[in-house]
Amino acid sequence: QQDVEQQTRFQPALSRDGQRIEVVANIGNPAEAAQAIHAGGEGVGLLRTEFLFLNRDRPPSEAEQYDALVQMTRALNGLPLIVRTLDIGGDKAVPYLEMAAEENPFLGIRGVRLCLERTDLFETQLRAILRAAQTGYIRLMFPMIATLEDLRAAKTVLESVRASLDAPPIEVGMMVEVPSAVLMAAEFAQEVDFFSVGTNDLTQYLLAMDRGHPTLAKQADALHPAILRAVYQTVQAATAAGKWVGVCGGLAGEPQGAVILAGLGVKELSVSIPSIPTIKAKIRGLKYKQMQRLAQKALKCRTAEEVRAL
Ligand code: PEP
Ligand code: MG
Repeated sequence: QQDVEQQTRFQPALSRDGQRIEVVANIGNPAEAAQAIHAGGEGVGLLRTEFLFLNRDRPPSEAEQYDALVQMTRALNGLPLIVRTLDIGGDKAVPYLEMAAEENPFLGIRGVRLCLERTDLFETQLRAILRAAQTGYIRLMFPMIATLEDLRAAKTVLESVRASLDAPPIEVGMMVEVPSAVLMAAEFAQEVDFFSVGTNDLTQYLLAMDRGHPTLAKQADALHPAILRAVYQTVQAATAAGKWVGVCGGLAGEPQGAVILAGLGVKELSVSIPSIPTIKAKIRGLKYKQMQRLAQKALKCRTAEEVRAL
């Protein structure tokens, strides 16, 4: 079976009745962009740019960030690269940024909140992204958006940087990983080009279970019906506005999760590089109709265990 997955990894993930699901990669550096393509990835659904900021003693310069991004667009050769702006805070600390200690870092200055405080970092990153976007296909995505004000503030900074560079506009999406973003998805959908659901954080925040907790993390199962209902609500709101939804959390890379997510109407699954051939093969093995039926059953389940039993 693994042989078949490897041999077919460059073929698209078409269900048996012809529905295409894009299977793309989660990456953290330029070398992984090339590996993603080699594994059959159809682009990058999540570049975690924070990895470019770790294990060093100062932030990368605009030129360093630009060079890293251009290496990635070259490796992708026209396939899309979704660049997520800096998502530091929570469990990802960066000593040289000298952030104040917090009692609840996962509920603190994290992701886009840090960028809106440290506009020096944010503007440098946005300049690198907008310049690199002129060398290949880049879409931008903001992490940890909780309110429309966050999104609008981030887009305002983006627009001022874009205008100062006289760069063309690019597609802008947001992570859906905070419960308020699900509940307000219809409104958010009017102001972004796409959503990417972060099931890791969405599970943590919906179930109020720390994703890294030594004992709770096991119960924080992304196949819980609460999370599936949230994904479905997001898809419905996006579809009504003519926008698309991807998933870049860990659930997309689990074969059972991938099938249910596709059945809920998710169009793009962004997964770890080694999972790409498996997820593509899984989609090819089923009819979209079957995935939709399974997803509808899963939405009605009462527990994660019931969903897994399906
Ligand atoms: C997520 O929260 O699901 C996600 C993809 O982002 P990260 O794991 O980097 O927080
Ligand atoms: Mg996240």
